[in-house]
Amino acid sequence: MKFLIANWKMNKNFDDGLKVIKAIRKKIKNKSNKKYIILPSLQSTLYIKNNIVKNDVIFGSQDCSQFKNGAFTGDISAEMIKKIGCKYVLIGHSERRTIFNETDEVLKTKMNRALEQKLKVIFCVGESLTQFKQGKSIPFIIKQITKAFDKSINFKNVIIAYEPIWAIGTNVTPKMQEIDNIHYKIKEAMKVHFNITKIPILYGGSVKSDNSADIFSLKNVDGGLIGGASLIASEFCKIYDTL
Ligand code: PEP
Repeated sequence: MKFLIANWKMNKNFDDGLKVIKAIRKKIKNKSNKKYIILPSLQSTLYIKNNIVKNDVIFGSQDCSQFKNGAFTGDISAEMIKKIGCKYVLIGHSERRTIFNETDEVLKTKMNRALEQKLKVIFCVGESLTQFKQGKSIPFIIKQITKAFDKSINFKNVIIAYEPIWAIGTNVTPKMQEIDNIHYKIKEAMKVHFNITKIPILYGGSVKSDNSADIFSLKNVDGGLIGGASLIASEFCKIYDTL
């Protein structure tokens, strides 16, 4: 199964979001071997879901609370996300890790909250430019994974997204061979540490329609996590066609 995830971040009001989704729905369909998942902001998700004729779009949330419920002003629980009709939750995006100081421990708790609700988790990992330049990408990513995961997790509901921080929104990507190698090493680490042989690993970071075919043709890449290019329906659909 291949996946294409649209991370809209804090962009698109509900009315604009609906227009984009309508345009996407006209051009592409989810198939048995590949699917696209849209992560709008949550109030848009509810509005869009209520205003599309067929319920054929898969939605996810960009985050969830580490808490179940209660006095946590501003937070949204995994249960609430599920109730809106989302099927996926993105956890550990580098913007959450760096801007909101989310630690590996917090991310592990968030992942557990999401999995308890039978939501599927897209868990992001990725190194900084300094780590990349120092050749420390792989040990750093493996540390992120081993801190967040343990053997009790139902890995059937987990997807990993490798997003080098320095490639997000920058129009630069690692070399194709580097992407494939890191994905291979992540798969290898999942086998060694958790005895998991099948887990989708998506690539994210400046994926556009002019580089997506090359990226998706890599042996160890199972799809993409798309930021900027997912805000334009035609561009997102072109990327989907290369998957
Ligand atoms: C992202 O933020 O997850 C991302 C991949 O962004 P972009 O595609 O804009 O680099």
